[in-house]
Amino acid sequence: MAEPDEAPQHTATTDRLKQVRAKIDRSARDAGRDPGSVHLVCVTKGQDAEQILPALQAGERIFGENRVQEAGRKWPELRGSYPALQLHLIGPLQTNKVHEAVELFDVIETLDRPKLATALAAVLAGSARRPRLLVQVNTGLEPQKAGVSPLDADDFISFCRSSCGLEIDGLMCIPPEAEQASPHFALLAEIGRRNGLKALSMGMSADFELGIQLGATHVRVGSAIFGARSAP
Ligand SMILES: *Cc1c(COP(=O)(O)O)cnc(C)c1O
Repeated sequence: MAEPDEAPQHTATTDRLKQVRAKIDRSARDAGRDPGSVHLVCVTKGQDAEQILPALQAGERIFGENRVQEAGRKWPELRGSYPALQLHLIGPLQTNKVHEAVELFDVIETLDRPKLATALAAVLAGSARRPRLLVQVNTGLEPQKAGVSPLDADDFISFCRSSCGLEIDGLMCIPPEAEQASPHFALLAEIGRRNGLKALSMGMSADFELGIQLGATHVRVGSAIFGARSAP
């Protein structure tokens, strides 16, 4: 494995990352937005440290993982070499993993049910860590997908704030694969507006430009940077 202090390697990842960065810049400018207002979350699920290093060497510092255990295996060591990292949890969080998630992650994007909000509040009460929190909204009402229903989102956000004392930064969604993403992104932005939430995590490899057009502050891009993932 390459060491962090070696000269940056030129890899396929480096090239793809440059292209993604260029597209983010262009989409932001086309939408009349400051490119600096869009944060790239490099999604590294299924990628090992060797595949991640070129992105770190290229200066990327925000990364997303969808499993607590996998992140726990990979990131503590990388953090030792790259202290300014910001790690996002973008996959479902079980209540029995909340403690570990609070230790590992700087942003939890998948807060989606009262039981989890209560568990988070309990863990945070005994911890100095303060991960930023995003509420995941199941904009497509897909039964197999995590996320609070768009119809329950306002009440759930109030519950998190008032009953659990949690500070909510924003919202996240994963539109149904077979549908146009834009109505889902527009709905997420609308729920964000009426709840006074600034962060919007929306857009993946296939549709991050559309996400930016509709107000994304965070885009979560995996395969367009790292190539195809090995099966989980
Ligand atoms: C895997 C994943 C991504 C990245 O997907 P790509 O299509 O590879 O960009 C983004 N968000 C979530 C929640 C994911 O699980």
